[in-house]
This record gives sequence, structure tokens and C-alpha cells, in this order.
Amino acid sequence: MRASSMISLWFMALLLGLSIAVLAGFNRKLVANADDWISSPLDSHVVSGIVQPDKWKLLDREGNEWPTQPEEALEELQALKGAEAKARLDSIYHIFYGQSYSVVQAENKRLFGLDGKYSGHLGISGIAHSEGYNVQTTISSELSYEMIKAMRASGANDGSAMAVNYKTGEILASVSMPSHSVGNLYVSPLADDYEKENGWLYNRNFQTLFSPGSVQKIAAAIACLRYRRDIDLTVDKNRIVYDCDGSYETADGKKINCAYAHGRITFIEAFSLSCNGFFAKSAISMGQEKLSAVAQELGYNKTLSYENFSLLAKSEFLLHAGVGSYSLGWSAVGQSIDGSKVEALPYHMLILASAIANKGTAMQPYSVSWERTRGDEPVELYKASPKAVPESLVKMKPEEAMDMGILMENVCRGSGTAAVLGDAVEKLGYTAAAKTGTAEISASGRAVVSWIVCFIKEEEAPLAMVIALTSPSEGKTAAETASEIMPAAISLVKHGN
Ligand SMILES: [Zn+2]
Repeated sequence: MRASSMISLWFMALLLGLSIAVLAGFNRKLVANADDWISSPLDSHVVSGIVQPDKWKLLDREGNEWPTQPEEALEELQALKGAEAKARLDSIYHIFYGQSYSVVQAENKRLFGLDGKYSGHLGISGIAHSEGYNVQTTISSELSYEMIKAMRASGANDGSAMAVNYKTGEILASVSMPSHSVGNLYVSPLADDYEKENGWLYNRNFQTLFSPGSVQKIAAAIACLRYRRDIDLTVDKNRIVYDCDGSYETADGKKINCAYAHGRITFIEAFSLSCNGFFAKSAISMGQEKLSAVAQELGYNKTLSYENFSLLAKSEFLLHAGVGSYSLGWSAVGQSIDGSKVEALPYHMLILASAIANKGTAMQPYSVSWERTRGDEPVELYKASPKAVPESLVKMKPEEAMDMGILMENVCRGSGTAAVLGDAVEKLGYTAAAKTGTAEISASGRAVVSWIVCFIKEEEAPLAMVIALTSPSEGKTAAETASEIMPAAISLVKHGN
């Protein structure tokens, strides 16, 4: 089935769902969770009510009102020139309207109790549904637009990017490519491209696992900090830990290569230059149990949540029993070899960056700040309160976060792999911290995914960002794309937003 007819069907289903919805009037407040209400399908005290889709509006960070359907949004945007209208809609499409994990989906879930509970507004459904209500989101449509422009300029076919405030967890922008305009009935310049047409419904931030490449060295470095007694940044930052001749030979006689011979390097240099040899050797000497335990604590193999969704996709770090040294070495530098499985979800990588930036505590990302009725005297229906991601999901010690901050800052300096980002934000008076990665995702080595996981160290611009791009143009990397987006993000938070 063509993507365009799929989406039409989806909207018909949505409209049908909205118009036949019967709201339970007899709600009981859960004792365990004061903010949540439940209704039972067996409840006989049912009061019917019809909810029109236009009864609520999505507000972006800039205060623009967005309708609840993308077709209407596109109509409103048509005042802009065609290409810009499409790009603007694409930039907020997945986070506002997408088929999975969007604000509209989260709201519908809450409204109709599809997850068995919903927030307080149904308790005063009379007001909410006669006057309609506003959903204030955390999303900046301006930053989202800057994000998609930079991602498209990278030449990548597909990819994702997401930025949060790491002190609060507010999602500032979340973009996934390809997007709406590829699958849209009216605008389909790439319709003959089979993969694009079929891939645009995915929100890659929440649904796509990418091979992590060297981004995996964040977990490997934390394992080194925890288990290698000779590595202690508070004692000696300048200690030589490895002599890289360009390739590390494992016990099974195979080689794990570096981009070039890094020479005699410190731990900080091993990380900033992204030396595969050092991390492979360290992983092999620490052993699979320790490596797996660290990954598990950092949130690999765990189900993360977002708004009222439990994500189906999760980062994976899975080594089979008795894994060989070659495969174990590669797992630490982010490639699945000989039956091991190392995959990363962009949303999870963003949470890891946030934890490092925020002294070991990752704040739970969210995109809905509040909901209020639209009348003259607005009634508050819902209000988000920032909270940490539970330690059972992501656990990092404050001192580890501090050490990782030092390592990641050096990636943005001198010959580090994200120096381009460091330079771009230094001009604005800020300090960037990052880890980059390039992973091969096809046997021929022609297709790669280019990553950056990064944040701003100064807490007056508490920004964390992740970008994953599939095969950007020659010479373009995720780090370069980040260097184009981050200044816009800084300017957004500097102006009190
Ligand atoms: Zn090396």
C-alpha cells in the first residue's frame, strides 16, 4: 500500500475515533497516583460526549497555534513559499503529528483512556469539551526548522536529531528524516524512491536503532573509569595509557584497526582521538561481564519511556556467552561482530548525554508543559513537573559524569573529532562537550551512520543534543551539522526560552 493512502486511512480512523468516542462520566481517582483517573469499560454510568478535533490546539514554544491535524497545518503554512511551508511542517511533523510517539498521539491516548488511565481533564470533561483546550508544548518550531535545514544540507537521506534542556528534560526540538512531505499526497518529489516513501512514517529518534560506532566509547570509557585501576583523572591526567601503532591484534589473531597510528596517548587522548585499539584492548582485559554490567546500568537493554508511551525500541548491548576477544573488542567500539549485538537508540543516547551534563542525573524528556481550557478563565487540566529518569533505568555516578565531561570537552578541542562544534560555540562564549561516531551499516562499507552526542557545559545554556545521519555527503559529518544547529539552540535558551 502506498504511504499516502496509508496516512489517509489513518486520519479517517482518527476522525472516526474522535467522533464516536464515548466518555466515561463516572471517573474514580486512583489513590496511588493523585493525578491519574481511571474508567472501567464495565462502568454503566456512561455519559456520552463528542470531541471535535478542532477543540484543542497545540502551542509551540514561540506561542504559535498549531491545529491537531497536519493537513490543516499545511494549509495554514501555504502563505509561505511552497518549499518552506513543507520544510516547516516536516520539522515539527514527527513530534506533533507522527503516527507514533507524537503529542497528538499522546493526547488521544490520554483523552480516550487507551492506556487505561488519563490525566485530570476528563474529570471536568464538560468544560474541556465545550470550550476546547490548549496544549502547551516545549517544542520550538524555530529551532526545529534550523535543525531540518542543517540536516538536509548534510546530504543525508535519513536521520534524526533531538535537543533537550538537560536541567528540566524539556524537549526543544525533535526531527526525523525523511518526513511528511515525502509521503504526502500533494508533495512527493521523491515518490519514485521506494525506501523514502516507506520510511517516512518512522520517528527515528524513538524507533530506529543505529549501529553506534564510536559513540559506544561513552559506555566503554565509563567502564574504564570504573574498573581500570591505572586510570584516575583526579590523580594524573597526563599518564600515557597506550601506544597505538594503528591496529590492535587480538588473541585470536585478528586486527582491530584505527583510522591512523595515534602513537603514545593518554586516556583523554584515547577518547578525543577515538582510538579503537585502546578501547578494544581495555574491553578485552576487563572482560565481557564488566562491560555488559556497565552498559546495563547506563540503560542498554532497558525499556525507556516518553510522555505516556513505553518505547518498543531499546539500545542493545548483547554478547553471547564466551564471546571471542575480536568480537568483544569491537563491541566496545560500537560494531556488532560475530554474533554480538550493539545498537543504539538516539533517544537513549540523548538521555546519556543529559546524565553526563547534569552531574549524573538524567532528567526525563517531555514535550507537554501544560493543558488549559481556552475560555476566559482558563482551568488548568495538566501540568508537567520535571523529574529524573529512574536509577533503575539509567545510573551514573556524579564523579563519572564529571570525568566524562572532561573527556567529552577535549573531543571539541584541538585535533579532537568534534573540534568544529567546539569552535562554533566558543565564539559565543560557551564550551561544548561531545562524542562522535561513524559506523558502517552495510557490508560494502559504503553506507555509514554519522553520530554526535553533545552538550553545552555552561548551565545557563543547558543544552544536550543527539544527531544520527545516514550517509551524509562527502566530508559532511554529524559534528558539522551540530555546529550549525547548536548556535541557534544557544540563542533560543539565552533569550529566556
Ligand atoms: Zn589508535
